[in-house]
Amino acid sequence: MEQLEQKLIMKLKSHFLDIIDIENGLLHFDEILISMLHIVKEVTGAMDASFFSMNEWNKQLLMEASTIIDKKPSVIPPSLSDYDFQRTVIRQQLPGFEEYNLILLLKKDEQSQGCLAIKGAHETFIRFSDDVLEKISEECARFLHTARYFVKTILEERRYKQLYRVTEKFHSSMNMDDVLGEIICTLQEVYPTFTYYLLLSHDNNKLEDLPIKDLEYDSENIAAMQAYVTGVPQFEDSLHEKRSVLYAPLKGKQGVYGVLQVIAPNSIVFPNNEVEFITLLANTAGTALENAQLYQQSKRLIKDLQLINETSHRLNSNLRLAETMAFITEQIIQSFDAEEVGFILFSKDYKELKVLQGSTEFFQQKEARLYIEFIKRKVEADEEALFIGDFNLEGESRPACYKSIMAVPMTQSGVLKGIAIVMHQSPYHFSFETFKLLQSLVHHSTLAFTNSILREELEKMVVTDHLTKLYSRSYLDDKIHQSMNEDHEGTFMMIDIDNFKLINDTFGHQVGDDVIIQVADLINANIRGSDIGARWGGEELAIYLPGVSLNAGLVIAERLVKRVSESTEPQVTISCGVSHWNRGRYDSYPTLFKRADKALYIAKQTGKNKVVVQEHEEGNK
Ligand code: GH3
Ligand code: MG
Ligand code: MG
Repeated sequence: MEQLEQKLIMKLKSHFLDIIDIENGLLHFDEILISMLHIVKEVTGAMDASFFSMNEWNKQLLMEASTIIDKKPSVIPPSLSDYDFQRTVIRQQLPGFEEYNLILLLKKDEQSQGCLAIKGAHETFIRFSDDVLEKISEECARFLHTARYFVKTILEERRYKQLYRVTEKFHSSMNMDDVLGEIICTLQEVYPTFTYYLLLSHDNNKLEDLPIKDLEYDSENIAAMQAYVTGVPQFEDSLHEKRSVLYAPLKGKQGVYGVLQVIAPNSIVFPNNEVEFITLLANTAGTALENAQLYQQSKRLIKDLQLINETSHRLNSNLRLAETMAFITEQIIQSFDAEEVGFILFSKDYKELKVLQGSTEFFQQKEARLYIEFIKRKVEADEEALFIGDFNLEGESRPACYKSIMAVPMTQSGVLKGIAIVMHQSPYHFSFETFKLLQSLVHHSTLAFTNSILREELEKMVVTDHLTKLYSRSYLDDKIHQSMNEDHEGTFMMIDIDNFKLINDTFGHQVGDDVIIQVADLINANIRGSDIGARWGGEELAIYLPGVSLNAGLVIAERLVKRVSESTEPQVTISCGVSHWNRGRYDSYPTLFKRADKALYIAKQTGKNKVVVQEHEEGNK
């Protein structure tokens, strides 16, 4: 090569170097390309230069840039362009390139990059040897390759910086809405011309300024659904609408949390390197969303556990059932924002219902029956809890007052004991999470709860009094009822220790208790097995003698009064009021009791330590 030619190449190279001006950010490939063409034009003394890129796939040549002002992009079909491309320098007019008289093929590593088409006066190019033209082509090819690489690297660097920044932001937030907002914000920054939507599987966010759409399980958007289900990005290229759409799943470690829909306008195929970036962003967001969701979930679970813990604690704390139920009711009203809470118990044959004390007022009213009956039928039939958002009573003309209903069966050892019902007037008031919490609350409390009920029933059923080992009053009641139905007659007596307060005051309660026991023992010693000695309450005792006549009863009473005064230590006396019934005349337990009580009163009034009989009602005497 001549020296002049070498100089020309040096000039070309140094000009090329000037174009890549990183500091000033001249990094748009289109601009680099046009600058390169101007340099070629200037250095070779040509009139104009254009660059055609080669589409590897269909072998078309597409004009990408030109120094000709307002030159419209043109496409050279393959039939024309596949002319002899073995040569690098073509000094003739090719079909399709009629306005150019020199064509330089650009190749890098045997890969065709396209060609430079140069236009100039005939003499202009004669000056150049093929060698120097080849060298120009080589330098241009190398430059283009480097420029492409630069642009790509810088762009990527910027992207990854953004990704890094956004990742940091994602992980500093435990709020799902913030994470979603950040995704959109980043995308808008990186691709301002694209359109985005977040397709989310459930509406757990209420941000109105975010482009959120529901991801619905219908066939309308198959690609989105597919991305959601498979966790693999999906594409939807529409030639017709001149746009391509990418569906990138927001994927975490445990699942897919939604789909990011990115719409690229005016492009037929979604650009490949963008897919990589967006997918990465979506995955990062998926993980962040997962963290935020897990965090929120764990916070909620802790709160739920606290509620359950507190409730079971209360249930096991030996309070009276009504108090416990009132407490649980209040807890549910507060935690679930409920209006009505009811605990309904079933009788053994399921025919009778009992609204437990502590339920809200409403459940005691007649209107509640309709709800309870409906819920009971439903729970019995389905054998599972009930979650209704918009309730209506069947066959009722007016709409139901309570629209939101949750009902959880209380089962113990597989037996349905009752139902817990929680209601609110507004429709869809309770969330599914609340429903699940109610279920676990009820499951956890049923055992303690039925134990409580059993204990109270048991207390009622206890037959003997703990202190005196005499029968309990309720047992005595039952036995008198039974006897008045079955026997011919019976004698009843009420016994009260005289001046007992004095014993307590003088010797203390302990001794007082002991005296009651002594009297009780004397009662037991003076009656037969079929007779019933009972503790009426306090230091008042009672005896019922079934089938025993008044006279026989009086003998026993007198004997007892005597024995007590003789053998108690410290000494006490008793007063005894006696009444009697027989089948010959109308009588009832209350009047039998009343007469004995009256007799006892008279005994006390007339000196104590004695037996008084009241045979007839006052006025009947
Ligand atoms: P009265 O002769 O009129 O019956 O005189 P009283 O002092 O016995 O009077 P009253 O029957 O009204 O009072 C009974 C007292 O017995 C009151 C209560 O403090 C005491 N008392 C009741 N139950 C018990 C008990 O289980 N143990 C002891 N130690 N004292 C009791
Ligand atoms: Mg008394
Ligand atoms: Mg007394």
